[in-house]
Amino acid sequence: MLEERARRERLLAHGAGVAAACRKCAIGSQRRNSVYGEGDPCAQLMLIGEGPGETEDLLGRPFVGRAGQLLEKMLGAIGLAREDVYICNTVKCRPTLPGPRGPRNRAPEPDEMINCRPYLDEQIDIIHPRVILALGAPAAKSFLGRDFAITKMRGRWYEGPLGIALMATFHPAYVLRQTGGELEAVKRLVWNDLKAVRTKLDEVPAGPPPEQASLF
Ligand code: URA
Repeated sequence: MLEERARRERLLAHGAGVAAACRKCAIGSQRRNSVYGEGDPCAQLMLIGEGPGETEDLLGRPFVGRAGQLLEKMLGAIGLAREDVYICNTVKCRPTLPGPRGPRNRAPEPDEMINCRPYLDEQIDIIHPRVILALGAPAAKSFLGRDFAITKMRGRWYEGPLGIALMATFHPAYVLRQTGGELEAVKRLVWNDLKAVRTKLDEVPAGPPPEQASLF
C-alpha cells in the first residue's frame, strides 16, 4: 500500500507539473498559481468544485477560502477530515473578469472546462475513488450534461467516470450566500446528501464472491 501511495503521489505530482505549464486558455497566463488539487492519493471520496477563487489562486491550493472552511465543516459532519479526501476543481486556473478593483471571479467557460478535462480525468484515473461528490452545478454539468438541474437532481446517485458512484450537491459558496430560512433549508438538503455519501462509503465494496468451491 505504501508503494501504491508513492506511485500515485508521483503520478499526481507529474500531472500537477503538466497542468502548471499549460497555457491552452488565456486564464493560464492570467492566474498567479495553478490549483491542481490536494489530499489523500488513496482517498475513497473525491470532491470536485468549479474552479479556484482568489485565495486559492494566491496559495495554489483548492478550497482554502471561506467556501473551503465550510467544506471542512461539512466533511467533519460525516467524520472526515480534509486530509482524508482528495479535493480538486473542473478547471485548474482561476477564471477572472477585469474589475475596477482588480480581477473578479467568474464561472469557467465551457471551452476552459474542456481544455482542462484531461487533467481532471487523469486525477480520477489515478485516485479511482469509490465516490465522487460534485460541488455545484458547473461541476455536476461537466459530468452529467448541461441539462443537469442542481435543485431537482442533486442528492441522487449517478454513474460517473469509470463507473464511479457520483452525486452532486450545492456548492458551499452557494450555501454561504443564503440567509434566514433559505439557509436552513439548503443546509438541511446538503446534510441529507452528505449522509448519503457517508452511507455509500460505509457500504462493503462489491468484491469477488467468496470461494464457494471450498464450501463443498
Ligand atoms: N470554489 C471552488 O469551486 N473551488 C475552489 O477551489 C474554491 C472555491
